Amino acid sequence: MAGPIGNLEDLTLRAARFLRQADVIACEDTRVTAKLLRAAASTRPMLPYHDHSAADVQERLLERMTRESVALVSDAGTPLISDPGHGLVREARARGIPVTTAPGPSAAIAALSISGLPTDRFLFAGFLPPKAVARDKAIAALAGVPATLVFYESGPRLAATLKALSVALGPRPAAVARELTKRHEELVPGTLAELAIRYASTEPKGEIVLLVAPPEAAMLPADALDQALKAALATMPAGKAAASVSAALGIPRPEAYARALALKDLGLKDPDLKDPALEDSA
Ligand code: SAM
Repeated sequence: MAGPIGNLEDLTLRAARFLRQADVIACEDTRVTAKLLRAAASTRPMLPYHDHSAADVQERLLERMTRESVALVSDAGTPLISDPGHGLVREARARGIPVTTAPGPSAAIAALSISGLPTDRFLFAGFLPPKAVARDKAIAALAGVPATLVFYESGPRLAATLKALSVALGPRPAAVARELTKRHEELVPGTLAELAIRYASTEPKGEIVLLVAPPEAAMLPADALDQALKAALATMPAGKAAASVSAALGIPRPEAYARALALKDLGLKDPDLKDPALEDSA
């Protein structure tokens, strides 16, 4: 059964009833689930369960499931979605034990629904591998998928992931959804390169979903270069802007620098581009 992804008001009436009626509640962190039980006015016992739980823990749970009702909850959102439970559900089904759902929040769907990116087809890719080689291989395998890509990501890794995506996938529209349903919820849209530059200097706090538009939504490379440079030139001199855009887009630095200078010249005639930060001190 699903639980909230940050806002207790998102606990459904049915999920709350499951929590009150279950014989036992299998959960990740009993301290986190205790809050959910309080919100649901449940006094049912909890039992820790993880994908790496010892085989006998899963076996005991499966044995209880033949005669008792067991509710499986995650620390946040829907179990099995980048969370424990797949082994338990698969094995329960294999043994003919009935499994039902109390559906509810999931960060991936919540982010997709407010991103403004295409929703007709999407691919949930969970967390990318932490090591660069494996991460880049996983990104390459997704490059041709004609669907919006949805990733879970952490603040400390966001900038590196955006840069790798930008280099591998090119100038696609994307969005960073942060702290959904919480006080500091925000949705930041931009191209992969713009977002890579933005988060290279500020590491975001909290929980993050990263979304990338399908390949057909990519802009022409020239547009992408200009857009990324204009965003960078708003806060840094041409030399630094060219360096960060060249890293984010994977294009040669001299090319980015030449275009940055050209845009800077244009900016002298265009009041919208005239910004003190355009004064090149590099
Ligand atoms: N089972 C959960 C679900 O259905 O969304 C996901 C669990 S996964 C271990 C946790 C990750 O989900 C976080 O690192 C973050 O990427 C994403 N996430 C969870 N809550 C979020 C929120 N309120 N806002 C943005 N992302 C969130």
